[in-house]
Amino acid sequence: MNVADSSAITHGLVSYGFIESAIPEDADIIIINSCTVRENTEKQALTEAGKFKAWRRAKKGRRLVLIGCAAERLGEGVKKSYPFIDLVIGAKKIEEVSAIIAASPQPSLTGGEIVLPVKISAYVNIMRGCNNFCSYCIVPYVRGAEVSIPADTIIAEIERLVRNGTKEVTLLGQNVNSYTFQGLDLAGLLEKIHGIDGLLRIRYLTNHPKDMNDRIIKTIARLPKACNHIHLPLQSGSDRVLGLMNRQYTKAQYMDIVKKIKAGIPGVSISSDVLIGFPEETEQDFQETYDLVEKAGFDFCYVFKFSLRKGTAAYDLGDRVGKEEKKKRHIRMLSLTNRIASESNKRFIGRTVEVLAERMEGPRMLGKTMDNGPVDFLCDRSFLGKIIKVKIVETKVHSLIGEMVL
Ligand code: SF4
Repeated sequence: MNVADSSAITHGLVSYGFIESAIPEDADIIIINSCTVRENTEKQALTEAGKFKAWRRAKKGRRLVLIGCAAERLGEGVKKSYPFIDLVIGAKKIEEVSAIIAASPQPSLTGGEIVLPVKISAYVNIMRGCNNFCSYCIVPYVRGAEVSIPADTIIAEIERLVRNGTKEVTLLGQNVNSYTFQGLDLAGLLEKIHGIDGLLRIRYLTNHPKDMNDRIIKTIARLPKACNHIHLPLQSGSDRVLGLMNRQYTKAQYMDIVKKIKAGIPGVSISSDVLIGFPEETEQDFQETYDLVEKAGFDFCYVFKFSLRKGTAAYDLGDRVGKEEKKKRHIRMLSLTNRIASESNKRFIGRTVEVLAERMEGPRMLGKTMDNGPVDFLCDRSFLGKIIKVKIVETKVHSLIGEMVL
């Protein structure tokens, strides 16, 4: 989401006449888009800000701007410890960032390099905020209540991206399944976006299990551009912990949705998230999560360690599992999810898949299959943005190695 916001802000600033600089030393303004979802991410943002202290003081007129969720949580108070930060703009004002910066006093522009590379695969926000208040999560407090972006605005943004060379969009929201604007739901929005000429693929993140429904599943199955990959965060396999997390589903309900998705969408891949070390997670609760992850048939699963966030309901429960135990559970779960990803990738061996060529790394092209398999193969730049047939010859835990089929 922050990547999508940063892109939109860059685009907004360019439209005000600013020029993106590839080199920080050339820049007159540096904007740090911060995250506060974990204590660590907030610290990282502030460490990043600290790196620009000397840059900020080296030349008159330079400005350092802190935006996003950590900026929302910390507010103007952050300037006490970081007096070299000039502007603090929180996540609730993210859409106004370009206008606020453009309206503030301008430095004498030195001019930089115009770097607006074509994004073969781009992120597009379709909603902001969240109404779910999972007990461990700071997002509803820093991003505010859920608001769906008008369909016309989303379509215009995607058409602009496609005109500039984008072939794939990932629609973003904390809970894209609850998208609703003037009677249009996610399925209806997908239909509309599907009609955009030149767009090849549509992805969507994140799906809240409680709001996944038959209409969305059928629409994804029917629309050829809709990718057959669903990210469906589980968080815990223990009903007791799911209740404490306020996730609003049980593990049986979660598995029913997984079954429906697998039955309804041909060749679908499902990925998930689990949260380890939630307060009151016993060894038995952890084991239930472990067992469910093992049997759910995920292709991939991210593992996160619980992090206390002040202001959330879980904050009052305290960090009870303990650092060492949390670390042990984290390692156990990671080794399971790596095994799952590695086994899942093996199904690709010898298969020829269609890959959207997204970006080069040295002589190798990186791209993804429709079902989200990350593929790496030798290829030249002229194929960027094209769908290429690739034979998978080797698999790793997190990637597939292939050869172009001419
Ligand atoms: S659905 Fe839950 S975890 Fe996701 S953003 Fe909303 S409150 Fe946070």
